[in-house]
Amino acid sequence: MKGRVLIVAGSDSGGGAGIQADIKAVTAMNAFAATAITALTAQNTEGVHGVVPIEPAFIAQQIEVVLTDIGADALKTGMLHSAEVIAVVAASLKKHAPGVPLVVDPVMVAKGGHRLLLSEAEAALRDTLLPMAALITPNLPEAEVLAGFPVRNEADMRRAAERLGELGAKGVLLKGGHLEGDTVVDLLLHDGRFERFADPRIKSKHTHGTGCTLASAIAAGLAQKMSLLDAVARARSYVRQAIETAPGFGRGHGPLNHAV
Ligand code: PLP
Repeated sequence: MKGRVLIVAGSDSGGGAGIQADIKAVTAMNAFAATAITALTAQNTEGVHGVVPIEPAFIAQQIEVVLTDIGADALKTGMLHSAEVIAVVAASLKKHAPGVPLVVDPVMVAKGGHRLLLSEAEAALRDTLLPMAALITPNLPEAEVLAGFPVRNEADMRRAAERLGELGAKGVLLKGGHLEGDTVVDLLLHDGRFERFADPRIKSKHTHGTGCTLASAIAAGLAQKMSLLDAVARARSYVRQAIETAPGFGRGHGPLNHAV
């Protein structure tokens, strides 16, 4: 085992997304996962049935006690629920883990349509957390909110990634799965260069938690001192295999196979 990752995110009782996916992905990458839980969700493959936010001061306490004892080689944020939580998390990470690479998965809405971030907190995510990110990993709807314009094709994706870079993210992995077509294109913008990943679309409804899993697997790579490019490439290949071998549990969007 190599590399410590502190994950700041919400719990998914269904085990497919959120903290549960994060821990499984980091473990599968042979790194160590610690967590600060921001919210509990009562959730299954059919959707989010309830949310209980955790007291912001208690989120800060989880972060503090982990970082002042165990420490971290990389950080990952997922569901943050509110502007207040974003402010507290940003301040705690700055205080206790300055300079540690941060992967921000700008979680906003679950696949079933349930809001995981209040809409009034979107500006806080863009203005407070995005500038701290070594990498931000938006899907297209999230990129549209953060960049402030519609993203309908690959040229728009490039413009949106550049915009998020201008807003302060060091790296941007813009995931193109929401565009139609048999090929899925993801764009990685880092050090002023674009890397283009294109793969055949895997036709499956069992894609719950893909975003959480990808971002956490990348954070594990950064914790292990891989280059950003290598960490992204390894994480993408892991997520593809995890979708391809998904067990098909539940009546809705089922979980991945994190144990590939
Ligand atoms: N539940 C929690 C707690 C999450 O953090 C996420 C992450 O995006 C989701 C659900 C959404 O998962 P999906 O959109 O893959 O269904």
